Amino acid sequence: MDIFRTTAELRRWSRAVRSSAAVGLVPTMGALHAGHASLIRAAAASCGQVAVSIFVNPTQFGPNEDYGRYPRTFDADCALAEAEGASAIFAPTVEELYPAGAATFVEVEGLSNRLDGASRPGHFRGVATVVAKLLIAAEPDRAFFGQKDAAQVSVIRRMVADLRLATEIVVCPIVREADGLALSSRNIYLSPAERTQALALSRAVRQTEALVSVGELRASTLIEVARQILAAESEIRIDYIEVVTWATLEPVEVAEPGTLFAVAAWVGATRLIDNTILG
Ligand code: AMP
Repeated sequence: MDIFRTTAELRRWSRAVRSSAAVGLVPTMGALHAGHASLIRAAAASCGQVAVSIFVNPTQFGPNEDYGRYPRTFDADCALAEAEGASAIFAPTVEELYPAGAATFVEVEGLSNRLDGASRPGHFRGVATVVAKLLIAAEPDRAFFGQKDAAQVSVIRRMVADLRLATEIVVCPIVREADGLALSSRNIYLSPAERTQALALSRAVRQTEALVSVGELRASTLIEVARQILAAESEIRIDYIEVVTWATLEPVEVAEPGTLFAVAAWVGATRLIDNTILG
């Protein structure tokens, strides 16, 4: 497996291999877990060549967020990526992706201020910017993202459509622990007690799915039931509970097939998210 540090190397590789195989890209911030592994597997199943990018992107973190202490496990990440079928790792430095004097950012207007973007100002600007840089450098046929970050998917799809990028965006299902907790690189921050309380997020998601399956489609009811589930936990502070059209992140009053139900909450000092696409 190749390890590239510069965009020039990544682009050269992609252009060399693309004549004989589709190129897949899996953007990550490292600290890889089974959720990332599922993306790499999906990429390897549909693309003959797969690059995994590992880059903790400073521009998507707020000033008081966890950029400095975000887990960095490069050697284990490389081993996992290779075992799941990656052919290349792209691990640039911050200076490589943001050269001195960098002044160009990608702003997906409107969408970037909803859901996570409302509580994390600048977050989606950072995400859109780094994903644009990765897609321009790797020129992949397909790029793989997790439904876990459902609002991020909306922002990236809009950006790819608006910039007329040629990459197909593939969205993979949420991978969960056996007890329901959505896998996240940030779960390691949780104390044992917080880890137990964090299950309220997936409980709220499951309860919403159950209500919808018996015909309760009113967003206000779905939100209130979820609010009660989260509010019952002493360490949880709700950030948002939203019922929205997935593509636009605009709130709806009545859920339809394809509507996104999404929650974000602080469990102690750790912000977690979860969601479901309603059937
Ligand atoms: P991150 O490293 O957190 O930026 O995540 C990289 C990619 O992995 C994103 O597309 C995430 O949505 C995806 N991802 C993270 N956690 C999960 C999960 N539990 N299941 C599926 N995909 C995930």
